[in-house]
Amino acid sequence: MKLILLGPPGAGKGTQAVRIEENYGCIQLSTGDMLRAAVAAGSEIGREAKEIMARGELVPDAVVVKIISDRIDEPDCSSGFILDGFPRNVTQAQALDDMLTDKNLKLDAVVEIAVDDGILISRIEKRALETQGGPRDDDNAESLKKRLSVYHEQTAPLIKYYKEKGVLRSVDGMADIDNVSKQIEEVLKQR
Ligand code: ADP
Repeated sequence: MKLILLGPPGAGKGTQAVRIEENYGCIQLSTGDMLRAAVAAGSEIGREAKEIMARGELVPDAVVVKIISDRIDEPDCSSGFILDGFPRNVTQAQALDDMLTDKNLKLDAVVEIAVDDGILISRIEKRALETQGGPRDDDNAESLKKRLSVYHEQTAPLIKYYKEKGVLRSVDGMADIDNVSKQIEEVLKQR
């Protein structure tokens, strides 16, 4: 199973990805987690990404495209993967198309987890309070506003992009966690 989870910050992509991992034996590839690990390790990519991420802006396309391309080549991705947080704009989506063609791989589905902005803000504020080790650098009101506007301007156009390719499946992300998982299972069965 190879799929993309698409949705705004706080939509529950990470939570659902963990469940899909367990059900289908594929691996969650979160560019946000990978970049945070790079920041924590103080690598060159991490140093480049740190401030950009804290502001809620996007890290350069070439950086994330290379991270994902290299990661997909690892043996543990051979049984499938869930892209969480990538692609985040049309340039990245096109790079992903090219990369999958080169690697002779094909996406099974793109699952959109749809959630209204009002709910996202309260969810992320709650997450910031509950995160062990303190909130993320970007879980503050200003970055959050930026992340939502980046989502609407740059990432939301991917809904149309994948709809036109006939691979988009949407679920209601405002339902409770188990219900969202069930909806995802249903759309993945239908593929
Ligand atoms: P969220 O879904 O809560 O916004 P992520 O963990 O997916 O959080 O991403 C956190 C930050 O990491 C983003 O705001 C951005 O700065 C950076 N990032 C993650 N994925 C990408 C990507 N595909 N392209 C560019 N920047 C990214």
